[in-house]
Amino acid sequence: MQVDWLIVGAGFTGSVLAERIASQLDQTVLLVDQRNHIGGNAYDYYDENGVLVHQYGPHIFHANARYLWDYLAQFTQWRPYYHEVLGVIDGQKVPVPFNFNSLYALFPQQYAAKLEQQLLENYGFNIKVPILKLRDSASGDLKFLADYIYEKIFRGYTLKQWDLTPEDLGASVTARVPIYLSRDNRYFQDAYQGLPLHGYTAMFQNMLKHPNIRILLNTSYQTVQKDIQFKRMLFTGPIDEYFEHMHGELPYRSVHFDLQYTDQEKTQAVGTVNYPNEYNFTRITEFKHLTGQRHFGSTSVAEYPQPYVRGQNDPYYPIPKEEYKELYKKYQQEAEQIKDKVLFAGRLGDYQYYNMDQSVARALAIFEKQVVG
Ligand code: FAD
Ligand code: UDP
Repeated sequence: MQVDWLIVGAGFTGSVLAERIASQLDQTVLLVDQRNHIGGNAYDYYDENGVLVHQYGPHIFHANARYLWDYLAQFTQWRPYYHEVLGVIDGQKVPVPFNFNSLYALFPQQYAAKLEQQLLENYGFNIKVPILKLRDSASGDLKFLADYIYEKIFRGYTLKQWDLTPEDLGASVTARVPIYLSRDNRYFQDAYQGLPLHGYTAMFQNMLKHPNIRILLNTSYQTVQKDIQFKRMLFTGPIDEYFEHMHGELPYRSVHFDLQYTDQEKTQAVGTVNYPNEYNFTRITEFKHLTGQRHFGSTSVAEYPQPYVRGQNDPYYPIPKEEYKELYKKYQQEAEQIKDKVLFAGRLGDYQYYNMDQSVARALAIFEKQVVG
């Protein structure tokens, strides 16, 4: 088979680039994915009980850049949605990211007011302070608070999720969920937040229905590479896999997703409940909060982080540690040698902890700079 572009991986990165190349340049694309569906990790489907669920964990779209929201709006209507998370701390469920509401829920009112006052004096209102920064900079009562939040919210969760302490990870990871000096209970503060009204998979179907795009599922790059003639390629799988691990394996974290249905209409008060200190799972998400679906029953997912073992489970998270960035750079140098023929992008191709908006932004930038430009 002969095509202009071979794109490996039908997630956000591969699908956005396929759509742009097909619709804007009128070139042909073969999109292959080793899974039996499009959408990558954002794939959703109706389970056997009729509940719309996300196979690979909860996905909430959030972006500050309007062009990303508008770009995807060509393929879906949006359902506006603000995600809220409660963390279980000593048997109480309090807002996460930790904010003034969490403070008042956990501490005697007078002491909470004193801590609130000190936080406002030292950092200011509506400011986000990463936990490692709070721990480094605080003294007195605030040092106590920083240690408390660290122990009750971050330490156990991070050990479960990464098998590393917050200090051993890149500081940017826990900075994703900073202490927020406000009363805003939303998990994200981006200007644009929501889910595709009819689900992610339906959005991907619209994106990929161009006649220039041919899709092959259940097909790995390795099995087709010799049979396809292509001018250029985009690879969105693990970059170390493409180069047959010539510099050693890049480490990833995997997750086991345990989906459970119940006949109850709702099982928890908000979309996600985090369990930093109890159980082997990190969080439980009830999908109906996210999707807005009306149904007499409900399906939730518990996430059990796992070591990634090649061939046995999926690589979901690159591990943002300095030494692994160094190893990644060796692969980046290999990629540089072949960039006229093969591009790498996405969470696995770039070995970057991208959210969906960042994956879309990366694909659109590649289109402008390396495909058209
Ligand atoms: P992927 O979606 O991983 O797609 C890569 C595709 O390539 C896969 O389908 C894979 O099967 C295929 N592939 C790999 N190797 C090969 C090969 N050799 N041959 C053929 N096919 C191959 N982001 C948010 O913005 N909000 C959220 O709430 C959010 N929640 C998340 C929750 C979890 C548990 C996880 C793991 C991620 C979450 N994300 C979230 C991140 C989001 O999933 C990613 O940003 C996005 O899916 C990245 O898209 P991608 O195309 O780069 O990669
Ligand atoms: N985190 C934590 N406790 C929480 C929530 C998050 O320790 O209650 C830390 C943990 O290290 C986690 C990171 O912050 O991996 C980023 O959280 P986020 O919710 O962004 O993770 P994701 O949704 O990408 O899995």
